[in-house]
Amino acid sequence: MNRPGNQKQQEEKKNPAGKIVAVVIVLVVIAAAVMIGIRIPDTMELERQMDAAALAISNDGVTALAGAIEQHPRAANRAGAVLLVNEMIGVMVSEAVPKTDFRTLESIEKELNENTAWKPYASEANRKILADAWNEVIRRMQEEHDKLVDLKAVALRIQNAPVPRIADIAEFYDFKLPAGFAAARPVQMATAFAAAVAIKNQELAASILGDASDPEALRAGTEEPCRECDSKGSVPCRSCTANPGKCPTCKGTGVMKVSRLVDNQVQATEQPCTRCKGTGECVVCKGTGKRDCFYCKGTARRTNTDIAAMTMKKGLKNLIDQIDAQAGELERLKSKATP
Ligand SMILES: [Zn+2]
Ligand SMILES: [Zn+2]
Ligand SMILES: [Zn+2]
Repeated sequence: MNRPGNQKQQEEKKNPAGKIVAVVIVLVVIAAAVMIGIRIPDTMELERQMDAAALAISNDGVTALAGAIEQHPRAANRAGAVLLVNEMIGVMVSEAVPKTDFRTLESIEKELNENTAWKPYASEANRKILADAWNEVIRRMQEEHDKLVDLKAVALRIQNAPVPRIADIAEFYDFKLPAGFAAARPVQMATAFAAAVAIKNQELAASILGDASDPEALRAGTEEPCRECDSKGSVPCRSCTANPGKCPTCKGTGVMKVSRLVDNQVQATEQPCTRCKGTGECVVCKGTGKRDCFYCKGTARRTNTDIAAMTMKKGLKNLIDQIDAQAGELERLKSKATP
C-alpha cells in the first residue's frame, strides 16, 4: 500500500530538484553570454584608459579618460570610469593642499571652467571640493607668509651687514622652510655655506657641508679653478723631470751596473736598482710622472672668499625674491577669493 505513494513522493522530490538544476544551468549560460557580451571592445578600451589614467593622475589624464568615456557610451564600465574621473580630480585637489600648491588648484579650476571634456565633472560637489581647498590653501599660505617674514628679516640682516654675523648665518641656515617653500632648501643651504666660507668660519662651513647630500654642489659656489696647476690638479714630479715616471737612478731599467774587483780584476755585474728596488719607477710619484698640486690638493679648484660672498649675495636675493613673490601671490589669491 505504501510503495506507490512513496514512489510518487520521491518523484515529486526529484522533479523540483531537476527543475532547479535546469534553471541554474540556464542562468549560468545566460550569465556567461552576458559576460562575454559586455566585454565588447568599448568596455575593454575604456578599461585600458582607466588603468592608464589611474597610473599617472594628472589634468591630461582626466581629459583623456573623460574623452574616452564620451567615445564609448555603450561601455559596461562607464559608471566606474566616471567615478574614477571624479576621484582623480579629488586626489589632485587634496594632494595640492598640504603643499600649498595653488598653481595646481588654478589649473584644475581652469580645466573645469574652460575644458569641454571636463564639463560633465564641473559638478556642485567638485566645485565645493575646490572651494574648500582654496580656503585651506590660502589659510596655509598666510601661515607660511607669516613665517617667511622672519626668514626675510634675517636674510636682509646678512645682506646688509658689512661682515655677516655667525649667529645670523646659523639662524638663516636652521630656519625650517614651510611646505610650500621646500624647493628652496638647496638655495638656503648653498647660501648659508657660502656665507660661512665668506667669513672664513671653517666650523660652520664644515657642519653645513656635513648635512649636504651633494657637498660638491655647495663647494662649487665658493671655488675658482686653481691657477697654480692650470686646473689640472697636478704638477710634474720634480724627481723625474728628465724621464717622467721613470726612476732617475736607473733611468727606468730597474738595474744598476756595479763594478767589482774579483781576483784583482774589475768585473762589471748588474744588480737590482737600490732606489726603485728594481721596478724602474720613480718612487716619489710612483711612476705617474706627476704629483698633486700643493695649492689645490689635487682638486684643481681653490676656495675664494670673494666668489663665496658673491654666491651668498645671489642666494639671499633669490630667496628674498621668492618670499616677495609668495606674498604677491597670496595677495592676488586673497583678492580673487573675496567676491
Ligand atoms: Zn731605479
Ligand atoms: Zn717622479
Ligand atoms: Zn692646483
